[in-house]
Amino acid sequence: MQYIILIFILLASMLFYSSHIFSQVKDIVARPNDTTNKEAANAAISKALSRTEIQNLLRNLAKSPVPPINKEPGAMCYKVAAPADRIEYVCPIDGSKTLYTDVAAYTIDRDLRSVRCIIKGLNNPSITLDESEFCRKCHPKMEHPRLALVIKYSDDKKPLRIEGIYTQDAETIRELLSGSLIHQGNYDEQTPLKDYIKRLEDIFDVKAE
Ligand SMILES: [Zn+2]
Repeated sequence: MQYIILIFILLASMLFYSSHIFSQVKDIVARPNDTTNKEAANAAISKALSRTEIQNLLRNLAKSPVPPINKEPGAMCYKVAAPADRIEYVCPIDGSKTLYTDVAAYTIDRDLRSVRCIIKGLNNPSITLDESEFCRKCHPKMEHPRLALVIKYSDDKKPLRIEGIYTQDAETIRELLSGSLIHQGNYDEQTPLKDYIKRLEDIFDVKAE
């Protein structure tokens, strides 16, 4: 009798897990259609960009319906630590060190690392990060250093320089170029990428309309 009960429990749990896994797989398969606009992006993520291309991406984003989003914050993906109040910045160009003990230390600790990582991950020939304002040798008189992006459009000779770039900017750039319609926040909470069109227009110096 005990064996029969045991086999029954085993069978029931196998059935439960297989349906659970199946529903998860279905979820993953269904997701891309809801949250991406791949045809528009056409893998713009790592090829040279033109103003026309960015305008098309922004225009498509403006026209797309808001996808179903998860507004609830998920499990925290980042360790919550007190921001660093003292940090030594090492310039990747000349190797010189600059010590920061003010708000810039926080930017270096939080934004510089993530923006570097995201921009490097894009591997896009048109977008480069300029962090030289943080180096006292490169910029001796800089009082309030900021992160900057340099964008070189294939149909524009003069490179564009945008100062004051933060993690969220880098994330929304990546999302726009990969055809996503959703912005994924630091705590996994989602917002429509549409909400960031104005900021993206400013960054790329391109109007959606
Ligand atoms: Zn330097």
